[in-house]
Amino acid sequence: MSAVRGADDGVDAVVVGAGFAGLYMLYKLRELGLSARGYEAGSGVGGTWYWNRYPGARCDSESVYYSYSFSEELQQEWEWSERYASQPEILHYLEHVADRFDLRRDIRFDTRVVAATFDEGGSCWSVRTDTGVQVRARFLISAVGCLSTPNVPALPGVENFRGPVLHTGRWPHEPVEVTSCRVGVLGTGSSGVQSIPLLAEQAEHLTVFQRTPNYSVPARNAPSDPVQSADVKANYDAIRERCRRSLGGFPFDVDPRSALSVSPEEREALYRGLWDEGGMRFVFGGFADVLTDRTANDVAADFVRARIGEVVREGATAEVLTPRDHPFGTRRPALDTRYYETYNRDDVTLVDLHRTPVEEVTAGGLRTSDTEYPLDVLVLATGFDAMTGSLLAMNIVGRDGVELRKKWSDGPRNHLGLMSAGFPNLFTITGPLSPSVFSNMPTCIEQHVDWIGDCLEHLRRNGHDLIEPTVEAEDGWVEHAARVAARTLLGAVDSWWTGANVPGKPRVVYPYVAGVGTYRKACDAAAARGYDGFVLNPSAPVRRRPQGAPA
Ligand code: FAD
Ligand code: NAP
Repeated sequence: MSAVRGADDGVDAVVVGAGFAGLYMLYKLRELGLSARGYEAGSGVGGTWYWNRYPGARCDSESVYYSYSFSEELQQEWEWSERYASQPEILHYLEHVADRFDLRRDIRFDTRVVAATFDEGGSCWSVRTDTGVQVRARFLISAVGCLSTPNVPALPGVENFRGPVLHTGRWPHEPVEVTSCRVGVLGTGSSGVQSIPLLAEQAEHLTVFQRTPNYSVPARNAPSDPVQSADVKANYDAIRERCRRSLGGFPFDVDPRSALSVSPEEREALYRGLWDEGGMRFVFGGFADVLTDRTANDVAADFVRARIGEVVREGATAEVLTPRDHPFGTRRPALDTRYYETYNRDDVTLVDLHRTPVEEVTAGGLRTSDTEYPLDVLVLATGFDAMTGSLLAMNIVGRDGVELRKKWSDGPRNHLGLMSAGFPNLFTITGPLSPSVFSNMPTCIEQHVDWIGDCLEHLRRNGHDLIEPTVEAEDGWVEHAARVAARTLLGAVDSWWTGANVPGKPRVVYPYVAGVGTYRKACDAAAARGYDGFVLNPSAPVRRRPQGAPA
């Protein structure tokens, strides 16, 4: 296997995106001795941490786990200043990684991939960018991110608004001055929950427009404890291994018992302990049936609801903030620092959009069905076209002129979340139907990059140029992922995990929810059996036509 012969500016692999995934993929390709070109739409590395610069942006995974494990030196050298690093610190870390491993020289910044077509004659991908570059590559590796295409709702009249309209996922690089401003925030997912307390402190007045109340758990952020950090570093190998075999990519797991098998006092004690520890421990460390049994779920949900009632002084406000329409954990819970406390401030107004929906944005504010709220700045914390938004925007065309967008018009179809039949040599890091967003993502990103790296090495050693899944394996995986999801409470709930936040998006559970460890075993087993479920070096389309192919 070598660079594509006769191609203009050919490379072995194109990697799209320079966040956590793209950077490690470029490192891996270099380690394998393959030539690579990275394309990144932003002007720098960092992905999520390059784009999401809103006040309060920080990780919800504890930083000692929300980091790379591939380099022992890196993980020993790097010191995190807080339990959950802030956006500038994570960006600085990823910039350091890019520099330490000299990755920038392979990346073209300010360059968006706008088309990628599989050339059957040349058995390679022809990739086009918005800067007019055309490059040919044997392998096309998507590292475009699960949460990188902002979801901007069509708000009537928004073009008339006199002040800035800022999406959290496209926050300006210059400081945004809001001290003497009336600020409105639309959306109370994780981005809203993180930014609202800080915007409340900075703004003259803050109005929060909430449609669906979210469950939020205290992060309990704190400066890093040097003794604990040293302990983690001394035990990193074992900790990382635990993350890899766990449910959620963290070194802790659910309590294997049913919430209903223990006394109310024992349940309360378990959740109280997890609440006091804070963060993802509460989300991933509760009883085993929290996501599969509605009554068991009520135990966790009621616990959080009671905490909201304790913090928010005004009863009516507390009730509006209290989620009752979905079970705990069926939408991504937020982690917060003084989120509910913020609603006790006199300069913060909460608007319940379920009761009084948005009618229009006016020149001077936002009008709901009963009031016009005057605003100088409108913040859209409205989330992302998650999991498939950035991938499908690349206009990927596989064998027989089949568009990935058309093939996936009823939902993603792939094998192991990694490859789709009819799209040879296209790998999707944290693709849909892999654990991805249902986990501590660096754990899953590293697993995918390692799997892809091993696969490329296998192809080289065995003289193969192409790999793609069989349609049968793909059908099996799609059915399996749906069956696993159907055992949970997730599918019945409108969320970005089910595609419900984007009008017209197919309704499926997008992440694979059987757990990081279980998933890893499936990937490892396929590789160990000589890439079972895949065809290596296929000279013609494999078996029957993929769904969505023209007749
Ligand atoms: P990204 O970081 O999204 O990088 C993808 C890059 O691809 C982007 O820079 C984008 O510009 C680029 N790109 C996309 N399309 C193209 C194209 N066509 N051409 C060129 N470039 C393109 N996960 C956790 O596990 N724990 C957390 O605590 C956590 N916190 C988060 C906080 C926020 C505010 C957000 C939005 C997400 C968070 N996530 C968290 C999820 C986070 O996205 C992942 O953890 C991780 O950063 C993803 O890395 P990535 O490289 O896969 O994708
Ligand atoms: P989100 O969870 O999708 O939340 C979007 C919010 O905007 C919801 O409250 C939604 O209300 C509201 N909204 C959307 N369109 C609206 C409209 N037209 N009118 C009124 N309200 C509207 O998005 P997010 O907060 O950006 O988070 C997305 C994901 O990114 C998170 O779940 C998480 O995985 C990741 N993230 C992580 C962190 C972290 O770990 N620190 C921080 C931020 C984000 P409805 O619910 O009613 O639709």
